[in-house]
Amino acid sequence: MKAIIVGGGIGGLATAIALDRSGWQVEVLERAPEFTEVGAGLAVLPNALRALDRLGLGEEVQRRALDQAPVGIKDVTGRWLSRNDATELRRRYGQWAMLHRADLLEVLRAAVPAEALRPGVTVREVHRDGAVVHSDGTTAADLVVGADGIGSTTRRSIWGPQPAPRYAGYSTWRMIVATRPVGEAAETWGRGERFGYSPLPDGRTYCYAMVNAPQSRGGGLTELRARFRGWHAPIPALLGAAQEADVLHHDTYELPDLDTYVAGKVALVGDAAHAMTPNLGQGACQALEDAVVLASAVAGAGPAGLADYDRLRRPRTQMIVRRSRRIGELAHWSAAVPVAARNAAMRLMPRSSLTRSMGPVVGWAP
Ligand SMILES: Cc1cc2nc3c(=O)[nH]c(=O)nc-3n(C[C@H](O)[C@H](O)[C@H](O)COP(=O)(O)OP(=O)(O)OC[C@H]3O[C@@H](n4cnc5c(N)ncnc54)[C@H](O)[C@@H]3O)c2cc1C
Repeated sequence: MKAIIVGGGIGGLATAIALDRSGWQVEVLERAPEFTEVGAGLAVLPNALRALDRLGLGEEVQRRALDQAPVGIKDVTGRWLSRNDATELRRRYGQWAMLHRADLLEVLRAAVPAEALRPGVTVREVHRDGAVVHSDGTTAADLVVGADGIGSTTRRSIWGPQPAPRYAGYSTWRMIVATRPVGEAAETWGRGERFGYSPLPDGRTYCYAMVNAPQSRGGGLTELRARFRGWHAPIPALLGAAQEADVLHHDTYELPDLDTYVAGKVALVGDAAHAMTPNLGQGACQALEDAVVLASAVAGAGPAGLADYDRLRRPRTQMIVRRSRRIGELAHWSAAVPVAARNAAMRLMPRSSLTRSMGPVVGWAP
């Protein structure tokens, strides 16, 4: 049985590995000239490490990562708004991993048979019967997996242009800074803006800033330095050490709920199915979960197993899209009085409730 995977990002490569290991002949069509990731840091949470374990890659990913359970959220003066019990989080849910995106992609790429990788091939159209029209011709498959990201051609071919991705109301800047003045990760919430940082295993620091802004509004490092100038240490120093050329700036989108992730011989995984705001650090994690569940659903049944994949994955991923959206809304409140009330409420929240609240997301196992 042959499977074509459209897109060779984290979701596509993980799906290729999972299908290859259950006996499918796989082919990954990727429009970029090579399988790499630019980008910055990536948090791989315990649920996704368990998916990677299922692929036999969890240990390799952890070797390239720092174990960074989320420490908590601060206000702009550096005072804790909420603080997690990292030891308890690990005891309950397992390890957290923070690494460079390129490292995760490299681990995945190396686990796909080399002959299955077809870079430089752009997919133009996908049909429910498994026909894939691309820049090198047309290929027929028993299963087509659309892993082609938020602007998915696979999704548009079959589901049509709606629902279209929706702008979340805030823009995101990411950068890796060559210094590491911090031993632990933290996120700081202001009024309509926030800043996060996390050490990376190679001595550098992954930083991100998120700011309420109209869509497609630019702004570079100079603006970020001015905006976060009065925030607690080490935020101004991290921005001071950043290089303009290393800053990635993107608007933040999510995909409204689809009625189904499958149609005929075609299934969607990752951002193509459920692109979400990055507030829970779960987009790539969910793509990894998708990969292992999809491969197990079609292992015996072939494409008939896709209904199981949809049944198992849609409610869970759409729940996480909603949770992530709600956290983003709260984090981006900007009026002084509601923000003061939010901060006061966060300080009162017991650690045990914070720990428990993560269960439905990070407690997952294949
Ligand atoms: C600021 C930010 C921070 C984030 N942080 C985290 C985090 O810490 N942890 C986490 O789990 N997630 C995080 N995410 C989410 C995560 O980046 C995405 O969910 C994940 O990369 C999606 O992977 P994917 O493989 O589904 O899609 P993509 O990474 O978008 O890959 C799609 C691939 O398909 C290819 N492609 C597209 N169209 C075609 C075509 N027509 N033909 C052939 N190839 C095509 C593309 O070139 C690309 O390689 C973050 C996202 C953002 C924006």
